[in-house]
Amino acid sequence: MKNLETTLYKPLIGQSIKDLEIFSISLGEPSFRGRQLFDWVYRKRVYDFGLMTDLPKSFIDVIKNVPIHPLKILNSKKSSSKSTKKYLFITQSGKMVESVLMVEKNRTTICLSTQVGCAVDCDFCATAKMGFIQNLSVGEIIDQFIQLEKISETKITNVVFMGMGEPFLNYKNSITAAKLLNHSKGINFGAWRITISTVGIITKIKQFTNEKQPFKLAVSLNGTNHQQRLKIMPITKKQTFSDLLNVIRYYTEQTRKRVTIEYVLLAGINDHPIDAKKLKEILSPIKCKLNLIPYNEINGSYKRPITNNINSFVKYFNNASFPVTVRWSKGQDIDAGCGQLATEAV
Ligand code: SF4
Repeated sequence: MKNLETTLYKPLIGQSIKDLEIFSISLGEPSFRGRQLFDWVYRKRVYDFGLMTDLPKSFIDVIKNVPIHPLKILNSKKSSSKSTKKYLFITQSGKMVESVLMVEKNRTTICLSTQVGCAVDCDFCATAKMGFIQNLSVGEIIDQFIQLEKISETKITNVVFMGMGEPFLNYKNSITAAKLLNHSKGINFGAWRITISTVGIITKIKQFTNEKQPFKLAVSLNGTNHQQRLKIMPITKKQTFSDLLNVIRYYTEQTRKRVTIEYVLLAGINDHPIDAKKLKEILSPIKCKLNLIPYNEINGSYKRPITNNINSFVKYFNNASFPVTVRWSKGQDIDAGCGQLATEAV
């Protein structure tokens, strides 16, 4: 068996079966040792080499200092409703990233981050204020799930790629992490329970569609016309409103799946009854589900609409031909609501 310079090795979490086979072979071990490691790390979720009972002691002695987790939990905050908890992780290179665990009735959802900061610059979003810092690796994305699953008091039922960052601007790592989550020999988390949420990167929605990715797609629309969306989401300049609607239609027609349309309600910006009427018109021919998200205020100029206005907006969709849900975020008091994630120390 070869000697191992552990500092040269990537953490085990984030590696595929193939990577772990190559790792084992590189140490003079048969490839099946890699498959055994995969089984311990992803299916059995055991992170103590001493408990990996089918690995020979000589192998464990060599690999025992290889890091397993790429992230470490630094801190957490619980909302007053106790149903939402926000976690601050630190990467091996010292960058900080947040994830959120939300419990609602019999659903427990983990909201994963895919980047440190974000380059998209949506005007109402706390993450945008950080600017883009770096992409998260596959391991850094999936380790948020692995660590939160371990401490969650309830079984995780859903995963959304909707935390810090734009998943489609870190497409390869986000999709690889989703596939690892879904891997039948590993965590085996149902693809229909995994949602990738994008601000609407048109080429990547096309790619996602053409690759027939099995995960659900959510798109943040947040406006009912080009000018209105452009004011709050400067990305609309390049990814125009009509091109975005076209690619959403392309997705639903090609996959025959429902797309989730996210619409953040901002007081005086997009919450007028005319907006509700227009939104209904736009979405009626599209196979979709609408998720209305009353804005979670950060220290900026945007405001959450008053409850009466939210209710009248919602009422407008009573007889809509598509399902409509309202996400009354429960984590605003700890800045864990949608669009509130940014890594100040918690
Ligand atoms: S809303 Fe999403 S895409 Fe827009 S700046 Fe925030 S994190 Fe980035």
